[in-house]
Amino acid sequence: MAFRATILTLYPEMFPGFLGQSLSGKALLRGDWSLETVQIRDFATDRHRTVDDTPAGGGAGMVLKPDVLAQAIDQASPEGDARPRLLMSPRGRPLTQQRVRALAAGEGAVIVCGRFEGVDQRVIDARGLEEVSIGDYILSGGEPAAMILLDAIVRILPGVMGNVLSGVHESFEGGLLEHPHYTRPQVWEGREIPAVLTSGHHGEIEKWRLAEARRLTEERRPDLLGPQPETK
Ligand code: SAH
Repeated sequence: MAFRATILTLYPEMFPGFLGQSLSGKALLRGDWSLETVQIRDFATDRHRTVDDTPAGGGAGMVLKPDVLAQAIDQASPEGDARPRLLMSPRGRPLTQQRVRALAAGEGAVIVCGRFEGVDQRVIDARGLEEVSIGDYILSGGEPAAMILLDAIVRILPGVMGNVLSGVHESFEGGLLEHPHYTRPQVWEGREIPAVLTSGHHGEIEKWRLAEARRLTEERRPDLLGPQPETK
């Protein structure tokens, strides 16, 4: 069964957005994955179709109502749906390639996009929503975050990337950032491609790439190499 994404949002017209282009767009047309949106507002029960209310305890902004959101979740993901229920949230566990791989190996995902100040905590608890963050900054809504999550998932689904080999050498896959890339022309603005890459010595090329990957990782992301000795 193809990967099935269901997005709960107040802005379904934002989808598929950029996911409708390029590799993910072609894969969507082929049926390698599917995308369904659910308008949360359709589950509001009052005349004004209200989805939010003021925060208990006071303060700025509005909060997504638990009753309306729960109705939307229950219809989108009835009991027996094995897909994880995710909530895009800056308070969530930061997304990693490891989590992306695990999600891509599953049946799909039900993804709730927050708006305003966020969603009522009780619906997070009652429906077992897993909060997922795409980084330490605040977006105005969960939709772009959900698209980024799906982009990362879809590109590694079976059949989506033409060249099966790209993907295995990438940043993070081996716990390292990727080595630099070069292509023709051989000399550009006086800068040459490193000689080893055009030497034809595959062993030497692999050695160089690994050394470059280690150098870049140490320089830019020592946190990826594990706990570092105290320097103080
Ligand atoms: N008041 C909240 C931020 C709300 S931003 C707080 O301080 O935690 C509105 C919505 O945008 C959130 O409910 C969430 O769905 C989405 N969002 C914002 N930043 C995000 C991030 N870094 N990762 C994932 N989702 C995010």
